[in-house]
Amino acid sequence: MQDGPTAAVILELYEKGMTADPAGRARLLCAAAGGDPDAAPLGDVDRAVWALHERLFGGTTRAATATCPHCGEVAEFELPEGLSLPDRTAGETIAVAFGGQSFALRLPRLADVAGGAPDLTAIGPDAPWDAPGFAEAAEAALEAADPGMRLQLELACAGCGTASALPFDIPGWLWSRLAATGPRLIDDVARLARAFGWSEAAILSLSPARRALYLQAAAQ
Ligand SMILES: [Zn+2]
Repeated sequence: MQDGPTAAVILELYEKGMTADPAGRARLLCAAAGGDPDAAPLGDVDRAVWALHERLFGGTTRAATATCPHCGEVAEFELPEGLSLPDRTAGETIAVAFGGQSFALRLPRLADVAGGAPDLTAIGPDAPWDAPGFAEAAEAALEAADPGMRLQLELACAGCGTASALPFDIPGWLWSRLAATGPRLIDDVARLARAFGWSEAAILSLSPARRALYLQAAAQ
């Protein structure tokens, strides 16, 4: 992605992702983060999208909500400061030892999980997925190969006090920030364009602090 004013990038991603489904948004955000949505393993997608999140929204609110699996309450929590995703510890193909044999598995990609459940034949065409215990062995080997692939956050529920490890959907999280910010930016542009006749590009290139000052001035 071109380096440009952050607000312009946010608005561009919001516009492109508005009509996409979650899988399409993950692809969009992966590409915007400089990753290859067709070839990147899921952990690489998450690491790239998280870096993009920090570039666009670093230092701003980290408040989020999650549904407690124990009591069903929607609980608020703060994302930890300095959250960083563990690195991949293996190549894109790993060997899983099972029943005295070794089976090659490719780390899953976005396309492999686009339908919800992972496409196991795509990940390991020769692997004995139906053999009892193989799927568990494969999952453990994949998680060891890329601990950043399915990040879990340990969250304590304010309602019932239970701590749960919840999966953290990084592209989904970045999208929620974009979806919250895009309409606000449109509103800012509309108000400043009406007040001063400036172009969208000029308004989006203002720093957030200066945009806020002009919004104040326009309201007087
Ligand atoms: Zn709870």
